Amino acid sequence: MNAPLIDPFHRPVSYLRVSVTDRCDFRCTYCMSENMTFLPKRDLLTLEELDAVSTAFIGMGVRKLRITGGEPLVRRGIMTYLKAMARHLDTGALHELTLTTNGSQLHRFSQELFALGMRRVNVSLDTLDEEKFARITRWGRLKQVMRGIEAAQEAGLRVKINTVALRGFNEGELFALLDWCARRDMDLTFIEVMPMGDMGEEDRLGQYWPLRDLRARLAERFTLIDLAESTGGPARYVRLSETGQKVGFITPMTHNFCESCNRVRLTCTGELYMCLGQEDRADLRPSLRDPAAPPLEEAIRNAIARKPKGHDFDYSRQQVAGQMPRHMSHTGG
Ligand code: SAM
Ligand code: SF4
Repeated sequence: MNAPLIDPFHRPVSYLRVSVTDRCDFRCTYCMSENMTFLPKRDLLTLEELDAVSTAFIGMGVRKLRITGGEPLVRRGIMTYLKAMARHLDTGALHELTLTTNGSQLHRFSQELFALGMRRVNVSLDTLDEEKFARITRWGRLKQVMRGIEAAQEAGLRVKINTVALRGFNEGELFALLDWCARRDMDLTFIEVMPMGDMGEEDRLGQYWPLRDLRARLAERFTLIDLAESTGGPARYVRLSETGQKVGFITPMTHNFCESCNRVRLTCTGELYMCLGQEDRADLRPSLRDPAAPPLEEAIRNAIARKPKGHDFDYSRQQVAGQMPRHMSHTGG
């Protein structure tokens, strides 16, 4: 193995999130506008290029790979790439290969995912109500996602549910969601809505439901025990002492997790974002396509040397400061 990747603040980079497509079969209102213009296909990394970059990172100490998008399971040939990544699980170089998905294609792929060595998936689901689901995803159907979740569990995959906390939308479903997850032995994590991209007419400040409020509401019914475990990311966990259920909170706007940050993000076009909340990025595509460009490993090391200390989101002044002009579906959520 080559020397591990360590950033200027002595943080090892052990976790790579890879967006394999900017396309999606849903149009969630907080994520995309209804009429999205997607990137031309030639701009996307090919499956071979995705393999080359991921493999280079694994060679430099990345132990966890999360595949995301857009919707990763709508990328043509995605299984070819995932199978290629599974070879690193077989050698032990990679410890975990996982996926964040909207669940729409899990009924088709779960068996294969388990067979290639995947053990866990995150499924995004914001409501248990069919009509509300159709409204928030614009194009999604709840029944199909439910079938996908069942298929995943039947195949042996552990499912974690990610729910974006949306004021005036799923506030009333807090306990129903908890109960639904508990009955299916699934962990549940709430995500604070982030100011990403231009979401058209949707009012982001109106949708913003701070997780500290959600947490307070939980505490009215349960005793919350803070868990010390850290993923190196923005997730914090509690256990509900009455039921034993684990609940996560992702508050990307706070930067109290930056000091333990262990991750970087690769976009579907081969740009490496060293921090979710900063615009600085390194284009790795020349190293894949242009023989005159610096070799891939050098380009990656140069990028990691620029990884910033932290980011700068702030809703507190009642305007979306530090707002990112890019969509989450491009960078990968
Ligand atoms: N399509 C897949 C899915 O929905 O899980 C993977 C990509 S999606 C961009 C990854 C995660 O980002 C999802 O859990 C989604 O709910 C979340 N997300 C998208 N836009 C967001 C926003 N503006 N604020 C907070 N979370 C967001
Ligand atoms: Fe698609 Fe995921 Fe964005 Fe929803 S959150 S539009 S499912 S990429």
